[in-house]
Amino acid sequence: MLCSNCGLPLEGGDEAALFLCRTCGLAYEPGDEGLTSFRPLTASVTTELAAPSDTRYLATWRFVAAPEGGARIGRPVLSPEDSLPVDPIWDGIRKAAAPGPPYLYVPAFVLARAVVQQLGVGLVMAQPQLELTPGLPADTPARPTLVAAPSEMAPAGATAGVSAGPDEGPGFGTVSPIVAGRQDARALANFIYLAVVAHELHDLVSIEYRLELSGEELVFLPAVWDPRYVLTSNWRFLLREFDDLVA
Ligand SMILES: [Zn+2]
Repeated sequence: MLCSNCGLPLEGGDEAALFLCRTCGLAYEPGDEGLTSFRPLTASVTTELAAPSDTRYLATWRFVAAPEGGARIGRPVLSPEDSLPVDPIWDGIRKAAAPGPPYLYVPAFVLARAVVQQLGVGLVMAQPQLELTPGLPADTPARPTLVAAPSEMAPAGATAGVSAGPDEGPGFGTVSPIVAGRQDARALANFIYLAVVAHELHDLVSIEYRLELSGEELVFLPAVWDPRYVLTSNWRFLLREFDDLVA
């Protein structure tokens, strides 16, 4: 597959849902009428801690989220008064996001549910104020060996998007592959939403809700891979909202 803008091969990997032209800063999405392109966004590093040299950028879908509904808490309810609205949780998230809208984040660089949940819930709870620029992150020129090979040229075993063990690093270069497409991300957004609610309500018995998702964007978030961050799937976002999580 070639970029229709510059003619160079697109990057992705065997598991890719979307493909990238790093030269043009475009993402290509397969659809009924072939590939369509759009320009993703890249978030700047905002951490106030020392930023490591090997910054990675993790593909993440972001939706403006408007949930409606209620959660039932505690013992099975006998009357409607026992049922509490789910709104208190989302109100807290909405306040954290102000003055912007509250977002649901869905990591798109992995399919492992535990990683998607840990990082997605962390981002939703933090509601980071992102400094976004259109296009893809630049490569780190000093580390060319870390850049993944173009998908269709890569020999077996060298594809981007293969999740690596704890001693092997993230398995991709500066820019992550995109393995969760737009429709996958919409389904996963519901999963993240329910994980956020369950995270706050330990006695959740049932929930009825409707989740309106709009304004989806593909955002690359700066992060560093470090096996010491066991509780966040070996990743730390290089965003100031995550600075206090560092011991
Ligand atoms: Zn191109």
